[in-house]
Amino acid sequence: MIDQELNQEGVASLAAISFEVIKTEKHTGARLGILHTPHGSFETPMFMPVGTLATVKTMSPEELKEIGAGVILSNTYHLWLRPGEDIVQEAGGLHTFMNWDRGILTDSGGFQVFSLSKFRKIEEKGVHFRNHLSGEKLFLTPEKSIKIQNALGADIIMAFDECPPYPADYKYVKESTERTSRWAERCLIAHDRPEDQALFGIVQGGMYKDLRKQSAMDLISLDFPGYAIGGLSVGEPKPLMNEVLEFTTPLLPANKPRYLMGVGSPDSLIDGVIRGVDMFDCVLPTRIARNGTVMTSRGRLVVKNATYARDFRPLDENCDCYTCRNYTRAYIRHLIHTNEILGFRLCTYHNLYFLIKLMEQVRQAIREDRLQDFREEFFEQYGFNKPDAKNF
Ligand SMILES: [Zn+2]
Repeated sequence: MIDQELNQEGVASLAAISFEVIKTEKHTGARLGILHTPHGSFETPMFMPVGTLATVKTMSPEELKEIGAGVILSNTYHLWLRPGEDIVQEAGGLHTFMNWDRGILTDSGGFQVFSLSKFRKIEEKGVHFRNHLSGEKLFLTPEKSIKIQNALGADIIMAFDECPPYPADYKYVKESTERTSRWAERCLIAHDRPEDQALFGIVQGGMYKDLRKQSAMDLISLDFPGYAIGGLSVGEPKPLMNEVLEFTTPLLPANKPRYLMGVGSPDSLIDGVIRGVDMFDCVLPTRIARNGTVMTSRGRLVVKNATYARDFRPLDENCDCYTCRNYTRAYIRHLIHTNEILGFRLCTYHNLYFLIKLMEQVRQAIREDRLQDFREEFFEQYGFNKPDAKNF
């Protein structure tokens, strides 16, 4: 067992990351902050693009820098299977392997074990499941997940947890949440690189407030350098997600970063910031881009539709990204229609730029104490206030 006192003092002075809250917005309590990592300092609230297999699909690291990405996400489960953490470690770690010298966060693999594998059996020690590619039997434990993440070498790593499905009954979520707390402590003990990798705990508890509270208390007692909120955006209605979030964030220490996992639609980003969240990640902007769908200041636009065959305007007339400065809807529609890689690249570029710029605007609104007004204007223009509004 770790000596708690030594842990608190030792880890605090050797912490891999630090977090400063620069300003709290007057009306909503939203936070403007700076996250300092071993690979640079980044303003929060921030959106983190997802690069599952150590690449943000179709984007080069130079392009990611050009659009202002600070921290990107990579995936422990996927990199464990391919190419294997030993190869990444031999390359000098994930930053060197993928030529990215800004921040990296790896998730624990827990979410993929539960979402990708048809067969799985959870026990106290860990989870038995099958490799979603080969069908081979695998066993992942909190210790193994941390060992892999230590080898990958991201700046921020995540505790191995179970993300319960929605809906799930109280008894199931209670047992799962209590186990996630025990696993979090095992992750902390297994963690070999606290001086240059910050391990975040993940608050679970489903949609049950008392379980969220218990989970937050359990994790706070372990004194993680940051806290994620997991188990949201798993199919529940948005008002319920906001309600759980509004209840959960105030339970977390004000001086530590808060990360809402798997959330990336523009409305949920703004509503998350209003409820005190500092970091977000989601595959949404990159995934829909490869399907020919983009987010614009006037709402979603399915550029692959035939309507745009002769539309010679940019994707978004209010956007000054590389794609919008140089290409038309008609051309991009043609590229997507003919399965040309450039089409997916241009849409991905624009979507990531859109969300990263959105967070810049959100930070500016916090500075000026007008986040609620910004939300109203943005929602109105995007079309979120319409009765038939889509999810993004
Ligand atoms: Zn654009």
